[in-house]
Amino acid sequence: MELQDSISTLKGVGPKKAEAFGRLGVKTLEDLIFTFPGLYEDRRNILSIAMLKEDEEAVFTGKVELVRTGGYSRRGRRILKMLVSDDTGSVELVFFNASYISNSIRTGDRLTFFGKPQRNRGRLQVVHPQFSRESEAQTGILPVYPLTKGISQKEMRRLQQTLRPLYAKAESILNRETEEKNRLCDTKFAIENIHFPEDGVSLRAAKYRLVFEEFMVLQIGLQAFKLASGTLCRGAEFDNPGAEREYIDSLPYKLTAAQKRCAGEIAADLESEKRMNRLVQGDVGSGKTVLAEIAMYKAAKCGYQSVMMAPTEILAYQHFESLKSGLSGHGIVVGFLSGSMKAAEKRKVLEGLADGSVQVLVGTHAVIQPEVSFNRLGLVITDEQHRFGVNQRILLKEKGESPNILLMTATPIPRTLAVMIYGDMDISVIDEMPPGRLPICTRCAEDERARRQIYAFAKRQIARGRQVYVVTPLIDESETMDVRSAQEVFGELSEHFDRAALLHGGMKQKEKDDIMTRFSRGEIDILVATVVIEVGINVPNATVMIIENAERFGLAQLHQLRGRVGRGSSQSYCFLIQGSDSETAKKRGKIMEESGDGFFIAEEDMKIRGPGEIFGTRQHGLPDMKLADMVRHFEVLNTARDEAKAILAEDPGLTKPENAGLKSRVNKLFGDDYSLNL
Ligand code: ADP
Ligand code: MG
Repeated sequence: MELQDSISTLKGVGPKKAEAFGRLGVKTLEDLIFTFPGLYEDRRNILSIAMLKEDEEAVFTGKVELVRTGGYSRRGRRILKMLVSDDTGSVELVFFNASYISNSIRTGDRLTFFGKPQRNRGRLQVVHPQFSRESEAQTGILPVYPLTKGISQKEMRRLQQTLRPLYAKAESILNRETEEKNRLCDTKFAIENIHFPEDGVSLRAAKYRLVFEEFMVLQIGLQAFKLASGTLCRGAEFDNPGAEREYIDSLPYKLTAAQKRCAGEIAADLESEKRMNRLVQGDVGSGKTVLAEIAMYKAAKCGYQSVMMAPTEILAYQHFESLKSGLSGHGIVVGFLSGSMKAAEKRKVLEGLADGSVQVLVGTHAVIQPEVSFNRLGLVITDEQHRFGVNQRILLKEKGESPNILLMTATPIPRTLAVMIYGDMDISVIDEMPPGRLPICTRCAEDERARRQIYAFAKRQIARGRQVYVVTPLIDESETMDVRSAQEVFGELSEHFDRAALLHGGMKQKEKDDIMTRFSRGEIDILVATVVIEVGINVPNATVMIIENAERFGLAQLHQLRGRVGRGSSQSYCFLIQGSDSETAKKRGKIMEESGDGFFIAEEDMKIRGPGEIFGTRQHGLPDMKLADMVRHFEVLNTARDEAKAILAEDPGLTKPENAGLKSRVNKLFGDDYSLNL
């Protein structure tokens, strides 16, 4: 067995399985070793049934006394109950939509369970515990791996076990000095204990080393890129002070003071000889798009092309339409580019870009493909920056000689972190909403009656010509979760609403676009969607946002979703239907009802959930980290940053043999798409 052997050399891994592993990014045995558990099940707490306590995860073994199906949950899931006992007592287990259990389990079976007891009407109950035959039960600290369809947890654990002899072959990517200075455990120990922790202390040591490594690799990559690109170099210089005023005066509204300030900062950057490198941060609905428009207008008037990249096709197309209506009146030609366009249409746009007749380009990541070349690119903008990876950002930069860069994001990132992530970027903040916006009236609901009232209310709003969004956490019905899916809600609502439609990420791009276009034209009254509509969409006539199973979303995400309404001058409403009435759910509901401030909400969210889940990689657009967390491990990040700086200072190209491992990991993390000049 060697680290670089293909995963298909393992027993039990055929072509189908190999393909499934491919989806997890696993091709070689080494990749599998570096697939770390996201969490652990602490199965060291083995209790008799009488000892079970509310909210305390435990392993217990008992005899099945009774298996009974019958009744439905609040969400219409079929309920299966099981009574299990040992010498000390008995406990009730509850499963949803799990009739398969009654085929495989008989009364009298002895099983071992793992789960968290909860109190229901005074009695302890365990919902969806994991179980296995007593003889096969595992205890200790068990790894829980990220999975994909076709690979089970059990299988993953088994494969990791078979790989254990290989751990010793993994070489350290850090030199001895760095290891000693930072008191890191060795590589083999780290890998061993991240998969199969001996105890809590060993796990912490293992994690520390691996987190440190990840940050080192990340920091080396970012710093090397910074060195290579030189953010201080001259940028395209727009020699037309005040030219944007014309455009600002032609807008149907007055800019807010905050927008004016940001527009001024951008204009000053563009006019200076230094290349602009600016991040605009502003809450949802604060009016970021117009700043991009103003900058693009200024670029065009100075003979430069500009490009704007958005994370979804829906959003890109919406920007295209708005830019076209804003700019074409001023004689500026706006083009659109996406992956799903016909070849002939694409070719026309590409020609226009190459000969300079298309001055403004809007699109998805199609705009960074190699076949796109510009005549004179002077400005590069990315909207909803946090959705993009650094690679994409970098590729776009490379399209022009030294174009000015403008990034826009609604994610409130603390400044210290932003500096780490965005390096030397300047930051503008829009801290004011356009006038005349009424605060969105937000209400939480827990029961069916309230839910019916909410939909009746939505119906009345539609009768007055307004439109409604309904967001659900899942596309399809789930086996084990008692949650409404988009399909299901859509099915229900189609009976009560004539012009309802469904939108989710599994649909073809063209279908999604059609639906979004019809919704924005007012041809659809009520749109049932998954979070695909989370970013950027602007349909000011929509005044009601209903979120089903709101407990499944983070607060920051709820805030983003809520931001889809309240974009016009009419009163808007947001209803959070919670599938839980726990204390946390109540607290979260209250925060949403009382605050409309994205920064405040993000902070509160952090207090409730811990920072990791908010500033997960999805939010900042860096390459995926396996274990490291920018906020929780901030101190480690700091140390690794200094260490990275020192290494690059001594060995800028990472050509020394002791840095070879590091170099190959950096290249792997950032992909082969662009060269770091390493
Ligand atoms: P976001 O910051 O979320 O990207 P948008 O740029 O989509 O926000 O703007 C939201 C809405 O506010 C749009 O309909 C836009 O036309 C409008 N808008 C932007 N600035 C102003 C302003 N100063 N006064 C009135 N409406 C504005
Ligand atoms: Mg926007």
